[in-house]
Amino acid sequence: MARVLDKNNAHFRRALARLPLGVSSNFRYWGEGKTLYVKRGAGARIWDLDENEYVDYRLGYGPVILGHCHPEVDAAAREGQKVGTVFALSTEREASVAELISAMVPAAELVRFSNSGTEAVMAALRLARGVTGRDGYVILEGSYHGLFDAVMWQADVENLRDARHDPEVLPFGKGVPELVRQLFWHVRYNDANQLEDVLRLHADRIAAVLIEPILGSCCGIPATPEFFRAVRELTTRYGVLMIADEVKTGFRVARGGAQELHGVSADICTMAKAMANGYPIAAIGGREDLMRHYGQGRVTHGGTYTAGGMALAAAERTLTLLRDSDALARVADYGRRMQEGMQRILAKRGIPHSFAGHPSMGGLFFRESPPRNYRDWKLSDYTFYDTLAQQLIENGVVCEPDSREPWFVCAAHDESCLAKTLTAFEAGVDHTLKELAAADRAAV
Ligand code: PMP
Repeated sequence: MARVLDKNNAHFRRALARLPLGVSSNFRYWGEGKTLYVKRGAGARIWDLDENEYVDYRLGYGPVILGHCHPEVDAAAREGQKVGTVFALSTEREASVAELISAMVPAAELVRFSNSGTEAVMAALRLARGVTGRDGYVILEGSYHGLFDAVMWQADVENLRDARHDPEVLPFGKGVPELVRQLFWHVRYNDANQLEDVLRLHADRIAAVLIEPILGSCCGIPATPEFFRAVRELTTRYGVLMIADEVKTGFRVARGGAQELHGVSADICTMAKAMANGYPIAAIGGREDLMRHYGQGRVTHGGTYTAGGMALAAAERTLTLLRDSDALARVADYGRRMQEGMQRILAKRGIPHSFAGHPSMGGLFFRESPPRNYRDWKLSDYTFYDTLAQQLIENGVVCEPDSREPWFVCAAHDESCLAKTLTAFEAGVDHTLKELAAADRAAV
């Protein structure tokens, strides 16, 4: 039976009158009759305004690592609230959370806080520029580093004509100054040769190479261990700083993030999402000699709301729970078992597929081997994914409608979530096969 979305749709019309697209982020708009409004979340589930229940694999794009409304984290946040909101002065807990982070992420010898991933990456890039005295930087194709002009650029893979030409690099949207394009080099992901070519020629103008260890907004494509190590070696060799943007991978793929998995420490790293189970806080961590450049008259960092009492207390509890429990192992185990279940369903029907990333934030592809870069994604059959995603949402499993966003797992996903997910997945695959076959027949 089709979902009823009457209340969602009525609310959409109301919201549209006062909010552009009826939402507070472009990415939350799924179109008329499809845009969902959440009534509440609990554990790994959410309910929309019509009380339709969903198993949630978006988790706010990753932050909700322990599950929605986690009682211990929320209790800690309420305690934090009692300290006060903001003072334009520091509080004791900042040092405690910085100590926790440093102990989990060795690259974060010193720590500064921000409110969001965007702010943290901005602060990291500013630090790299301030230390090196250079304005240029390298971003890798398929990366997402937040919404600020320096990084709102992407390769136009959609219109890629053939593999021999590089796609055009375009801003995410209007309002990003064209001038910014002169400041960065755009290098293919997992292509150390191209990176070396750029550094060999231009290192004297480049402050940093920004790398997402797993392309968290591009199918969960991971850096190969060789590439991640090459970024470390090449940046060191050419005197450029390495910024690991672990906003999504930090405190998720391992306690020490992807840097722990690769056994590599960046010069500067950014962490945000899984740090406070959804409360707004982010961290910039880095080598002491670099981080000490933050200071009056040197590199500026701050913000009225940085290290607010509530978010800081939530971070302290979340990080402590992640450090002291097996939550991350359970998250990865669930992700693995979910992928195995999907694999069985797809293999039975002879549908080519593969998974990328990490089981806690995995991408699903309809192609035999997973993509190594953004261009490869273009070659996978994402029509199948897009159709299937709509079916899953219809059947109470909410994944991102766009195949470029990985499936996020949290510690609250349990056996009943898995059973519901795989049942919906099997029905969704069969429905998709029928729908696409009918579309093919109609096209003939
Ligand atoms: N960097 C990465 C790797 C991200 O995934 C994101 C958000 N998806 C950001 C930065 C920006 O974070 P925020 O949305 O909190 O500003």
